[in-house]
Amino acid sequence: YTGKTGSELLTEKLKKFKVQEFQSIPVVVSEDVSVYDAICTMFLEDVGTLFVVNEGAYLVGVLSRKDLLRASLGNQDLREIPVHIIMTRMPNVTICYKDDLLLEAGQILIEKQIDALPVVKDSEQGYEVIGRLTKTNLTKALVELGRDQRV
Ligand code: ADP
Repeated sequence: YTGKTGSELLTEKLKKFKVQEFQSIPVVVSEDVSVYDAICTMFLEDVGTLFVVNEGAYLVGVLSRKDLLRASLGNQDLREIPVHIIMTRMPNVTICYKDDLLLEAGQILIEKQIDALPVVKDSEQGYEVIGRLTKTNLTKALVELGRDQRV
């Protein structure tokens, strides 16, 4: 018996959670696809954030719902505008790694006021996108912790 209280055990468990245990599958589009096609992909794949990759499949940008809404204002033909024109681009994309602590990734989401982080793997040519960490994943972690506590 460790003498730890329930809430101490809970905190300990929370502090050990890694990004990998809660990450989702990333949805990526090529930098050359149109804003129109990116909107279709967002609906079809049912995600709020798309990651943009170059022809080598390395991360070059991020597209949020509002990025696509903003681009849709006005009368431009959305089939004519490639997403690389409107995305948030590298090096301004905030990334994380699968072995990062979930709490640290969550802190970054809060500080940067963003909904998702690409989970990446380093390689010589750039970042390979291997996952997606969102506020929903953090909610799931919270709910899982709470469920464990139930008698
Ligand atoms: P929304 O814009 O739909 O509310 P976000 O809050 O996630 O969604 O995005 C806000 C802005 O931050 C957008 O311009 C988006 O491109 C950008 N953004 C989203 N995720 C990231 C990220 N991981 N790194 C850098 N910028 C990001």
